[in-house]
Parts: sequence; structure tokens; C-alpha cells
Amino acid sequence: MELIRVINVEKQYKNGVTALYNLNLSIKKGEFVFVIGASGSGKSTLIKMMYREEKPTKGQIIIGGINVAKLRNGKVYKLRRKLGVVFQDFKLLPKLNVYENVAFALEVIGMNKADIRARVIKVLKLVGLKEKVRSYPDQLSGGEQQRVAIARAIVNDPKLLICDEPTGNLDPVTSMEIMQVLETINRKLGTTIIMATHDRDIVNKLKKRVIMLDSGQLKNDYMEGAFSYEGI
Ligand code: ADP
Repeated sequence: MELIRVINVEKQYKNGVTALYNLNLSIKKGEFVFVIGASGSGKSTLIKMMYREEKPTKGQIIIGGINVAKLRNGKVYKLRRKLGVVFQDFKLLPKLNVYENVAFALEVIGMNKADIRARVIKVLKLVGLKEKVRSYPDQLSGGEQQRVAIARAIVNDPKLLICDEPTGNLDPVTSMEIMQVLETINRKLGTTIIMATHDRDIVNKLKKRVIMLDSGQLKNDYMEGAFSYEGI
């Protein structure tokens, strides 16, 4: 079943730079997809349009039946409930502990305390952080902080997890541990994962679908891809 369809999408920023040209993609529910390409090739632009941080200039992006390109600002919350986002710099709330950082996403949608507790503990177990529930972000390693960010992104049980360079600030060993967490989420929960990355070792090791952008255009789309050395 299809989860995402990108149809003839173009993105031109206000300064006149065209970041993406006539992009077409289809991503099925449960897929794990890497988006690769040189710096400036349009990876972040594509990902930002999926969670409606940016809007395409032309074309459509359909996610779980929602036309994201047409979605009015007042309805963006409906999309955000269907997806989780993980960033390179974690974006945790520094004054909240691990439990509170993860619970926050459920408190804002009005879930009751007992259900919140059950869900938060379940996802913290899944990312391997059950022992650190009372720690604050500045007491955690980079890898642990990213696990918290992943737990927060999936606590609402989204269909789609979008990751923008999630291992960009981590060493190779920690990066691989984070990839194991993402693979577990993909396999156990069936969450569709789209991950923009520069990391050749990760892409080559995991052998997932690889979408390669080059100067705003789709260059390759391979089911069991590896980093192509041309052009990067
Ligand atoms: P990547 O994530 O692959 O590095 P980006 O999507 O960030 O690529 O950028 C693609 C192109 O769009 C680049 O030429 C970049 O300079 C430009 N760009 C990105 N964001 C903006 C913006 N907010 N305003 C203007 N140009 C932008």
C-alpha cells in the first residue's frame, strides 16, 4: 500500500533558487528509504516539504491521503500527528527530563496520565533508554539524546518517521547503534522511515532503498542501493 506520493514537485525559494525540479516518487507503507546526494542537492527541501515546513511551488505531495501541498496552516496539526521527525541536533527541551521530553507530545493532545506512562515506558524500552528516565539532556551522551528524540518522535505511533541527518553529530559506532534502533522500529512497528544522510558506511551496510538527488533532480532510485561515487 502506498503511503507517500510525490507528483511533479518543484520547489523554488523566494530568492530564486530552484531546489527541486519535477520530482516524482512513490513510497510504500513499511519501506525504509535513504535520501542521499551532495550538499545542496535538495535532500532537506524534500524532507521539509513532507512535514510541511516548506510548501512546493508546483505539484503535489500526498501523505496518507492528505495533500500536504494544499493543507491549510490550521490543519497542519493533522499531518504532524501522522508523522514523527528526528533532527541532527536532537532538539530536546533542556529543562525537561527524558520521561517529560517524551511524554510532552502526548500531553499536548490530551491523553490521560496512565496511557501516557504506558506508552512512554514502552518506547523508552524500545530505544534502550529505560534506565535513564529521570536524566536531563545535558546528562546524556549524543547517542542517548538521539534515542530520546527518536522515542519522542514515535510515541504517538506515527505511520511515518522522517529523519534529517540523524547521525550527523555522532561517531561511527554510535551512529550504527542509532541505525539499529531505527531498523528495529521499522521492523517491529512497521513504521515507514525516510532518512536523509551523508553517511556512506551506513547506506552501504544497510542495503535499503536509496533515492539519490543531484542538483534538485532524481538521479537514481535503487531498491537495494549503495552510495554511488559519481558526483559526490
Ligand atoms: P541538501 O539538504 O541536499 O544539502 P537543501 O535542500 O538544503 O539541500 O538545498 C537545496 C538548494 O536550495 C541549495 O541550493 C540551497 O542553497 C537552497 N536553499 C535551501 N533552503 C533555502 C532557503 N530557505 N532559501 C533559499 N534557498 C534555500
